[in-house]
Amino acid sequence: MEGCPRVFAIGDVAATPTGDSKQGYPAAQQAAHAAKAICALMRGQPAPLYRGTANAMFVPIGPSGGVGELPMLGGMMLGDFAVSTMKGKDYFVGTVRKIMRAK
Ligand SMILES: Cc1cc2nc3c(=O)[nH]c(=O)nc-3n(C[C@H](O)[C@H](O)[C@H](O)COP(=O)(O)OP(=O)(O)OC[C@H]3O[C@@H](n4cnc5c(N)ncnc54)[C@H](O)[C@@H]3O)c2cc1C
Repeated sequence: MEGCPRVFAIGDVAATPTGDSKQGYPAAQQAAHAAKAICALMRGQPAPLYRGTANAMFVPIGPSGGVGELPMLGGMMLGDFAVSTMKGKDYFVGTVRKIMRAK
């Protein structure tokens, strides 16, 4: 946070100078960056500069449909198969449980 070098805001509550959108992917990238910055500060090193992140979005429509966008190749559009396979089954709940090592 500007003026508070040891206070971090991530996700929807954050207004980044890079204009990140209020979405899940930027929130996860900001969280990873904040963790690196906190570790650097704890080692007495300067916090790395946040350079922003691209957008990535997956919007399932029912269990077998959806539309999505990935940041590569200038914005790659995804359709029913890719989005339903990646997110439609559990809306990333399984992925987040793994990241959090939840049983
Ligand atoms: C309908 C909808 C669809 C969306 N679809 C997509 C999508 O397809 N792709 C995408 O990338 N993003 C999507 N988003 C945006 C995405 O959900 C958010 O950007 C993301 O969840 C932000 O994460 P966050 O951790 O910052 O906030 P949140 O996920 O909102 O988490 C904040 C947490 O803080 C808790 N909380 C609030 N106040 C307090 C308090 N006083 N004490 C303790 N806890 C508190 C809340 O209960 C909540 O659990 C969608 C959002 C909505 C509403």
